[in-house]
Amino acid sequence: MANKNVQIKFTKLFINNEFVDAVSGKTFPTINPTNGKKIIDVAEGDKADVDRAVEAASAAFSRGSPWRTMDASARGKLIYKLATLMERDAEYLANLESLDNGKAYGDSLFDINFSSDIFKYYAGWADKIHGNTCPADGPVLTMTRKEPVGVVGQIIPWNYPVLMLSWKWGPALAAGCTIVLKPAEQTPLTALHMAALVKEAGFPAGVVNVVPGYGPTAGAAVAWHPRINKVAFTGSTEVGRLIAEAAAKSNLKRVSLELGGKSPLVVFSDADLDEAVEIAHVGLFANHGQSCCAGSRTFVQEDIYDSFVRKSVAKAAARKVGDPFAEGTEQGPQVDDEMFNKVLGFIESGKKEGAKLECGGERFGKEGYFIKPTVFSNVRDDMKIAREEIFGPVQCIIKFKTLEEVIERANNTTYGLAAAIVTKDIDKALTFAQSVQAGSVWVNCYDWVVPQAPFGGYKQSGTGRELGEDSLKEYLEVKTITIKLPQKN
Ligand code: ADP
Ligand code: MG
Repeated sequence: MANKNVQIKFTKLFINNEFVDAVSGKTFPTINPTNGKKIIDVAEGDKADVDRAVEAASAAFSRGSPWRTMDASARGKLIYKLATLMERDAEYLANLESLDNGKAYGDSLFDINFSSDIFKYYAGWADKIHGNTCPADGPVLTMTRKEPVGVVGQIIPWNYPVLMLSWKWGPALAAGCTIVLKPAEQTPLTALHMAALVKEAGFPAGVVNVVPGYGPTAGAAVAWHPRINKVAFTGSTEVGRLIAEAAAKSNLKRVSLELGGKSPLVVFSDADLDEAVEIAHVGLFANHGQSCCAGSRTFVQEDIYDSFVRKSVAKAAARKVGDPFAEGTEQGPQVDDEMFNKVLGFIESGKKEGAKLECGGERFGKEGYFIKPTVFSNVRDDMKIAREEIFGPVQCIIKFKTLEEVIERANNTTYGLAAAIVTKDIDKALTFAQSVQAGSVWVNCYDWVVPQAPFGGYKQSGTGRELGEDSLKEYLEVKTITIKLPQKN
């Protein structure tokens, strides 16, 4: 049940299966976004702590260690155990998530259960990661082995704290890697509870380490570390660039990046209007608009444009904003004052550049970081609100005429994370799906993200894929073993 007075059990760094203070002894406050007040102080990891965590992760990965000698099926069972412990603690984790992040309790619970499903999915993969035998030239037997890349660094954002953790831990553990995770400074609490569950599940010490702290200190230490073999990052394109640069300039560690987006959601006039309005509404306002794949450019065909706008405004105005723990709340606060001010700044720029503010456009309530669901119509492609990622509850509705035109405009962006089309015409749907430059394309739905299918970006929305079988590749090296035979036969 929803309970904002949730008791917080873990606030220290998790290294080698122990909760420990930072080397510096420093802590930092994590803030409640509903009122801007401190929830609790958390140990602040820095380079020295990342070094300690890498030490533990390296030892856990060393030859002959319990983790390296464990049967792959046993590794899978541990991952499955973690999923079941999450289910046991689902309500607790959801409360902690809502407290720290501000998302509605029901949404948090959804994230926790989705994360547990992801662990179950990857638990099944652990003993199904096969190599090949190759029809090699010459008197040889040649085979490949898929081996874990080693110690991996994982840096995650605050918008889906547990979910992003599961997207990263699931494939890394199935592949047999060891982990140093840095959660976002805004939302460290659930990652620390997950760390406690890792220990309870019975993972050997050092397989998973969690070092909360800030980006330019703890995060950068992960990205630059010479003994981390791979870094997986989800966050802004700006920081993604820094991560790639750090990887290139340190030890050429493998990099996967899941970055920003400005995803087009295209509605044709043959669509069921109410259904299309609903898809576009949820596609943008879900998680307070704080979603990398938010459908943040709503393209609507001209003949239904006015009625689409009218219905979308009614929906946005009726969206229930407020206490994340209250029954029926659909939208809580933005995560922090920085994001709150950034989103309000975008709203100002939209007004200044001549978009029509249809509803919202200002803060909700007197405290915390709440913003009223906002809809702009008459948005042009060249406006800042149509080009840059807002990451807030601001829907931008743009008019278009033809399929060819909208494909070109949809692709006219540096991003390429997701796209969607709402239409009853199969030819339009297939032409769009094949022409749009995006890692995920949804037809007559949005945000249909599942454990079994890959997710990731074209262009500057990132590199590599998470989820599905493709994600495993990010955590594996391929080794070719060639054995000379006495003769070809
Ligand atoms: P946002 O702007 O949405 O907070 P960021 O990209 O800034 O997204 O943050 C995502 C994650 O990246 C967080 O865990 C953050 O601490 C981390 N981070 C931020 N700056 C850096 C950096 N210079 N090096 C490594 N990690 C960083
Ligand atoms: Mg930032």
